[in-house]
Amino acid sequence: MEVAENTIFYKAIGSEMDVFIHANKLKLPLLLKGPTGSGKSRFVEHMAHRINTNLITVSCHEETSATDLIGRFIIKGAETIWIDGPLTIAVKNGYILYLDEIAEARPDVIVAIHALTDHRRELFIDKLGETIKAAPNFQLVASFNPGYQKGFKELKPSTRQRFIALSFDYPAAKIETEIVSTESECSQEIAQKLVAIGNKIRNLTELGLAETVSTRLLVDAAKLIQDGLPKRLAVHIAVVEPLTDEPDTIQALKDLCDLMI
Ligand code: ADP
Repeated sequence: MEVAENTIFYKAIGSEMDVFIHANKLKLPLLLKGPTGSGKSRFVEHMAHRINTNLITVSCHEETSATDLIGRFIIKGAETIWIDGPLTIAVKNGYILYLDEIAEARPDVIVAIHALTDHRRELFIDKLGETIKAAPNFQLVASFNPGYQKGFKELKPSTRQRFIALSFDYPAAKIETEIVSTESECSQEIAQKLVAIGNKIRNLTELGLAETVSTRLLVDAAKLIQDGLPKRLAVHIAVVEPLTDEPDTIQALKDLCDLMI
């Protein structure tokens, strides 16, 4: 296989790269499960680049519908013309389509991808009354945040059954330190301290935070420090403030971080 020079940095945490290469070769739909900011999107970008395939990413939200993915008629002057949506483009051209946060999308999105996730590998475009076969290289990848706390949407078991699944989590301290320092170009010492703060807060389960400190936030804090913002302030705004709006919790977390940075 041709391996393009990869400029998208991704630090492997386990055997996810091997899994992806096999899944892509066999064109198996792949679900990436894991919390926000744990590297899922970066991983897909890196792998698409590595295997030299085009990638289309759709960030799903509550309003994302099958029409958004498949396509729609638009009026142009006196004409009505059909515009392919990202799913149709990927299916026709053999790209990877990455549906980020698939559980957020409207239920008709799941219906639309149904026949693409089994042996049929076809897409039905109801507005055109057409069924198209996926190009050989088309692959569907989706992400999902299992969010054990309330507020996250579930993915139906019947949908999950259609994907092989890879779990993502925040990496071990040594690997996360490497990610933070590479991404921000900060010193090893700062990266280590930030990762220690991240892990400390992740273990404070009694705070009942809806989401915890992601690798992304640690990278942001490191970038701000690297850019000259005082360390404590950087940690307050990149790590503490995004986590909660509860004044007492904010203060407690700031005090904790001040001792660690
Ligand atoms: P997700 O898609 O899981 O929400 P992202 O892929 O957007 O998360 O990751 C957020 C940021 O965290 C990335 O932009 C990158 O800076 C960093 N990151 C997290 N994990 C890794 C990793 N394994 N290798 C390189 N960067 C990573």
